[in-house]
Amino acid sequence: MKQKQYKYFLFDLDRTLWDFDLNAKTNISRLVDKYSLPVGDKTTFYDIYNEINHTLWSQYEKGIISKETLRVERFHQTLLRYGIDDIAFAGIFGEEYLDTMPDQTALMPHAMEVLTELKSRGGVFAIVSNGFKEVQYRKLQNSGIAGFFNAVMISEEQGVHKPSPILFKKALDAIGGDKSETLMIGDDFANDIEGAMIFGIDQFFYNYKSIPCDGGPTYNSNDLRDLLTITSSPL
Ligand SMILES: [Mg+2]
Repeated sequence: MKQKQYKYFLFDLDRTLWDFDLNAKTNISRLVDKYSLPVGDKTTFYDIYNEINHTLWSQYEKGIISKETLRVERFHQTLLRYGIDDIAFAGIFGEEYLDTMPDQTALMPHAMEVLTELKSRGGVFAIVSNGFKEVQYRKLQNSGIAGFFNAVMISEEQGVHKPSPILFKKALDAIGGDKSETLMIGDDFANDIEGAMIFGIDQFFYNYKSIPCDGGPTYNSNDLRDLLTITSSPL
């Protein structure tokens, strides 16, 4: 990997720093215990939920079902596999799941170590996230990383979302950065990486699933620690 002394780092939040999938699994497991649901193995329950959620998400994205339907049905249909047919309960479960997600604290592997080290080398950070203001700020606070960031740009709050270059520009302006010294780090190729390309800054595709990729990001890696190798000396 070519080395370059970046000073400004724009980070995506979900699945780049905050471990969305592990946090979802932990939270669902906690709720299964809380309501003493007779579902046996909780990993199997989560796998079934994941599959159903994925299917319903595609329907939601195509405009076939509403967000409200998605939020209830993903749990309703999962519980149906266990012979529990209770829409009202699925609604309560689904709402509580969403309300408590930002209280979960798991970070992606090595995220804390990498933030700490880059900061100690003089890095300046901003968050650039598509999401809801209240939810994303709670995730940053509860997972203990809020203090690393000089600016937080949340799409809902800013009225513009990735991949629009406007959100990247707002973040860079807020930390007083220069495009040539800035690196965008994110796991979503279309939103994080292509957005950063359009804006005109280098990109670190955190490709933690190691999916084939020929879009030509500046860096393609499944390990956040590669950020330390890229910027190997003090700034
Ligand atoms: Mg992400």
